[in-house]
Parts: sequence; structure tokens; C-alpha cells
Amino acid sequence: MSIDLHAHSTYSDGVLTPSELVRRAASRGVRLLALTDHDETGGLDEARSAAAACGIGFVGGVEISSTWSDRTVHVVGLGIDAQAAPLADGLARIRGTRAARAEQIASRLDTAGIHGSLDGALRHAGASGAIGRSHFARFLVERRYVRNANEAFRLYLGAGRLAYVSPAWPAMPQAVEWIKRAGGCAVLAHPDRYRLPPRLLRALFADFAQAGGDAVEISAGERFGSSPLVRLARAHGLTLSSGSDFHAPGGSVADLGDAPAIPEGLPAVWQRLRPGT
Ligand code: AMP
Ligand code: MN
Ligand code: MN
Ligand code: MN
Repeated sequence: MSIDLHAHSTYSDGVLTPSELVRRAASRGVRLLALTDHDETGGLDEARSAAAACGIGFVGGVEISSTWSDRTVHVVGLGIDAQAAPLADGLARIRGTRAARAEQIASRLDTAGIHGSLDGALRHAGASGAIGRSHFARFLVERRYVRNANEAFRLYLGAGRLAYVSPAWPAMPQAVEWIKRAGGCAVLAHPDRYRLPPRLLRALFADFAQAGGDAVEISAGERFGSSPLVRLARAHGLTLSSGSDFHAPGGSVADLGDAPAIPEGLPAVWQRLRPGT
């Protein structure tokens, strides 16, 4: 039995519908799941109904793209009211930014002789209003420009590469504020993945706490006992969260429910959440 507070569906760049995601989580022994699509909450109602039908706990969430110190930093909101106006309006603006960025990415790929990528990416985005680099990666794999998504990021889509467009996300404290005003808990997503030197990691934790952030996510693969992130989080009065960041069966770092368990005695963010919301 496990808790997984970070996962994606077809409403962003995951490949399972919200219902499929919930059923897979239930079958893998997850007893509390959060759906946290990038900048999009459209899948929450479907996921909530599916979770009720499967008898597992559900938390409505979102993963907001933001900027901190010229870098992209993701802030997960848990237990949010998706209808709260500042959050809903802010997310709609980010999705607009994503649409504009997609056109720029496509024109950079055009310059490199790779044509039709906008239509291709949009096809992979399907119902998602949050078109992103993963959808371009799937197009590049499908057309055999690259062998896999990782190579697509390494050669074309990653920071500083040919088709990289500096994103115009809101500032990190703004994302935290939208989440707080929507009644949610703000979680700094996967801090281990930003590749920050210790001095900058401390500054990020300090700024996140200062902005009103609640918790720090410990990713799959980290070990609570030995993670320096846990000590740093505690030093800044932040609690802990845990999630797999699942996107696709077989395709992501971890499967649903593979997030590390937070040991007894450490403060967990879900102690403040009301499952079913
Ligand atoms: P975006 O938010 O549109 O800029 O895209 C970021 C998303 O791309 C992340 O949430 C991941 O799902 C995916 N991603 C980032 N880096 C890689 C990588 N090296 N390989 C595969 N997927 C990646
Ligand atoms: Mn993603
Ligand atoms: Mn993320
Ligand atoms: Mn994610």
C-alpha cells in the first residue's frame, strides 16, 4: 500500500486517461493518489470519479511551470479548488504561453529541416490543452529523427539545444500564491532534478519557504534516511511529499506507487490534506 502524489494523464503529457491512470494506481496498491497534470486541471473530475469507483483516496492537484533564478522550477499544488479564479486564470495564461511556445519550437525545427512538427505535436497532445515538449519528442521519435524521448531532449528540445525556446512561465512565488489562494498545499517538485549546486539549492528552499511553500517532494529513487534534501527541508520548516511523476507505462523513471514511503516521525504533507478533495 502506498501514497503517490505526483502523476500525469492525457490532460498534459501522460499517456493514460485519468480513469486508466487511477485504475493502474489501484491495481498497483496505491491507496492515495494525486493527479498533477502540467498547468491543467481538466482531468480531475474524471479521476475523482474513477477513484471513488475503485475505492482509493484521491487528491486533486496540478503541477505549475514557474521560473526561479532564470530556471524552470515546478510547483505541485495538492488539494486545490480548481475553480478558484486566480489559479484557473493563471493556468489558462500558462497554457496560452505553451501554445505560443509550441509555434516557436516548430519554426526552429522547420529551420533545421524538420517539417510538420506543430501538427505532429498537436496530434500527440490530443485533448490536452497544455501542449509541451514531450509531445514534440513523441513526434520526433515517430518520424525517426531520434530513437527515444531522451535523445529528443538531448539533441533538440533540452535547454540550449536547437529547438529550445526560453519559457515565459510565472515567477515561482506567483505559482505558490495561486495554490495557496485555491486552498492547496504547495510542494516544490523534484528538487534533485534541477542540478543546482548546494548554495543555490539552499537559496531555492529558502525562497520557496519565504513564498509560503509547504513541502518538498522526495522523488522515486531517493532514500529518506540519507537524503540531504530531507535535512534541508526540515531546516526551512517544510514538510515532505512523495510522488512517482508517472507519465507512461514503461516510459518513466518510476511506475505508479513507486514513490518512496515517508518514514513515521517525519512530517508528511498528506497529514494536512483531506482525501476525496
Ligand atoms: P515542458 O513542460 O513542455 O517544457 O516539458 C517538460 C516535460 O518534458 C517534463 O515534464 C518531462 O515530462 C519531459 N522531459 C523533460 N526532460 C526529458 C528527458 N530528458 N527525456 C524525456 N522526457 C523529458
Ligand atoms: Mn511531464
Ligand atoms: Mn516536473
Ligand atoms: Mn511531473
